[in-house]
Amino acid sequence: LLQLSVPLNFIGFVYREIRQGLTDIEQMFDLLEVKAEVKDAPDAAELRIGQGAISFKDVHFSYDPARPILKGISFEVPAGKTVAVVGPSGAGKSTLSRLLYRFYDIQSGAITVDGQDIRTVTQKSLRTAIGMVPQDTVLFNDTVAYNIRYGRTSASDGEVFAAAEVAQIAHFIEMLPEGFETKVGERGLKLSGGEKQRVAIARTILKAPPILILDEATSALDTTTEREIQTALDVVSKNRTTLVIAHRLSTVISADEIIVLKSGEIAERGTHAVLLEKSGLYASMWNRQREATQAEEHLKQVRESD
Ligand code: ATP
Repeated sequence: LLQLSVPLNFIGFVYREIRQGLTDIEQMFDLLEVKAEVKDAPDAAELRIGQGAISFKDVHFSYDPARPILKGISFEVPAGKTVAVVGPSGAGKSTLSRLLYRFYDIQSGAITVDGQDIRTVTQKSLRTAIGMVPQDTVLFNDTVAYNIRYGRTSASDGEVFAAAEVAQIAHFIEMLPEGFETKVGERGLKLSGGEKQRVAIARTILKAPPILILDEATSALDTTTEREIQTALDVVSKNRTTLVIAHRLSTVISADEIIVLKSGEIAERGTHAVLLEKSGLYASMWNRQREATQAEEHLKQVRESD
């Protein structure tokens, strides 16, 4: 019996390790939406990354040949600047960010980073240069510390804490039952969308990439959370080339340029002030959003006074 129990324990241990490993891999695949069809060119070079200037030149793309999604998109994100993409649902906003990360190859045109066509460099070197803060971050079934350190596995505890502080999440983590050692994810403590996003921001702070892709959550956040996330994002995007799929007024107001996408085409572009003056699609979108926010706040006040 004794002889048997040892290997069984061992098998249990190995099984758990493998299962954790599999979960990580599965989640990485979800996270990266890894598509087999995107392959490195046989002579792919390493991306020579400088400040990460991005350029989309007459980009045409469709997931399915019968249905064009992007119809000749051209814009630039100069090094260190922030470009916000806005537009109706289904316009192709998230598709732009997926193409920059090269989840898919485009049908025609070119996407370049620091002058190099992203199809000519290794996917690994491209993705090392980009930090991605998605709408809904998938957390590993592991500790909060592990999830943050994922951005740079060599980071010390002190660096993990500092990143959490900048991401406005350190205080929250310290209040958890086991602090940074608290297990999170599907099988641990479930974090809210805003909390997960701040964990993703902390991860990105550790990774310190020259390029940042932010996909803001569409779901409404309370004012305090929104302000905390905005503060965190302002810090990470400072001096980084940033492409943001924007849903919040605070983000677009401070963007260097706003691209208004509609049915896969650029309908309008410019700064917040310029676009408001045009009284076009952008102006009507934001006026509607402002009215909705005001109505919501009014409703809250009424409820609170009851
Ligand atoms: P939202 O604001 O609702 O997130 P979006 O502007 O980001 O919308 P995309 O996610 O870029 O829109 O999608 C653009 C279009 O491409 C949509 O019509 C969508 O149905 C389609 N699409 C997105 N992903 C795929 C896919 N993997 N396969 C096929 N079609 C897709």
